[in-house]
Amino acid sequence: MCGVFGVSGNASAAELVHLGLYSLQHRGQESAGIVAVRDGEAHGLRAMGLVGEKFGPEAIRGLQGSTAIGHTRYSTAGSSTLENAQPALVNFKGGHIALAHNGNLVNATEIRVQLEAAGSIFSSTMDSEVIVHRLARSSAVKPEDQLAEALQGLEGAYSLLVLINDTLLAARDPNGWRPLVMGKLGDTYIFASETCALDIVGATLVREVLPGEIIAIDKNGEMRTVQLGAAPVLHRCVFEHVYFARPDSSVFGGSVDRARRALGRRLAVEHPAPGADLVFAVPDSSNAAALGFSEESGLALEHALIRNHYVGRTFIQPTQAGRDAKVKVKYNPVKEILKGKSVVMVDDSIVRGTTTKGIVALVRAAGAREVHMRVSSPPITGPCWYGIDTPDKAQLIAANMGLKEIADKIGVDSLGYISLDGMLGAVPSGPTGFCHACFSGQYPTRAPSVISKNRMG
Ligand code: AMP
Repeated sequence: MCGVFGVSGNASAAELVHLGLYSLQHRGQESAGIVAVRDGEAHGLRAMGLVGEKFGPEAIRGLQGSTAIGHTRYSTAGSSTLENAQPALVNFKGGHIALAHNGNLVNATEIRVQLEAAGSIFSSTMDSEVIVHRLARSSAVKPEDQLAEALQGLEGAYSLLVLINDTLLAARDPNGWRPLVMGKLGDTYIFASETCALDIVGATLVREVLPGEIIAIDKNGEMRTVQLGAAPVLHRCVFEHVYFARPDSSVFGGSVDRARRALGRRLAVEHPAPGADLVFAVPDSSNAAALGFSEESGLALEHALIRNHYVGRTFIQPTQAGRDAKVKVKYNPVKEILKGKSVVMVDDSIVRGTTTKGIVALVRAAGAREVHMRVSSPPITGPCWYGIDTPDKAQLIAANMGLKEIADKIGVDSLGYISLDGMLGAVPSGPTGFCHACFSGQYPTRAPSVISKNRMG
């Protein structure tokens, strides 16, 4: 998964992007990058690691220009290496192109094969690079028309920020899979994956980039828009509300905090835990859901699990070894709260079950008498093809086990997942227009030709 942030019309564009990326760090922690343009010259920085650790103020000041884009990356298509860090930056016959992509294309492999047959030489294993090659080949004159041409026939998820010379382009796939918003700070245009990144730079939300819309801002600050294709069928990712986005953001026009609280309340209705003494969240992504559960059930909300904030998202560790080691480093239970108690533990999702099993063991070791787990999303039974790093079926616990087996495996006394309808009814602007393929198996597109992380996908 990834975060994107762009600025047009500000002398401190790269500094604003740098700040914006801090607020999008949760969307990807493997690599980050910024590209800025000044007088037709583009300069970029890319590094493996965190925004705050890798880009010092001096390096950022070196990125002069009034237009800039940035990216935080967690690899879903393409391996975790510097050549796959974004924004991609290339020179072509018409100047330069920089591109930052959130999402996954499902037919990138076929397009890459065609481009290679026609002589293209690729420099990364990212699905996004096909867009760069198509842009470079476009014969259209205006940058927005070049991008519209490059996106023709692409399937899957993309929220994109592109620089073609001094023009900043923002585009969202016609199904609106991933979020992307436009904001303003005085005369400066800002684009960001989530509204929390507008807040950090003091920008005001103007609106979402619409599904299928391309917005171009030229160097004079003039805005033009192009709409791709026919009326879109929406497939907004429901997992953005469940887990991915920050609760202080609004995505797809709705508050993530409100969505999570509603999910928690619905969960308490569907799976109450009579006789329990208290409820607690697996922090941080399920804090709001646990609060909702508490409000609905009347159970006291306690902070029974403390998260070490110097450790990143458990899952955002590309290897299993990395994930295993992090459970204990990341969470510690508060014995005084748990000792002798029957507890409800709320989490937003169970994926492999590895982290959950580790946490339940910690909670029991801290003295909990009974552990009742409640999950604010349905069982994940299939991988995501559109940008979230869920593993393949073999590793997904709910694709391979029934409820009772999962409860035994993770070591809980009872287990309740919210229903698919319950989830879709709880999120803002639901229940239709959301992609829920990882829960329901209803994939809106064909499968990507190659799903391996180290090849195209
Ligand atoms: P596990 O028990 O190993 O399945 O891990 C479950 C935890 O992973 C939950 O606390 C979720 O909040 C978290 N999680 C779910 N999906 C993702 C994801 N795509 N990236 C990172 N963490 C995730």
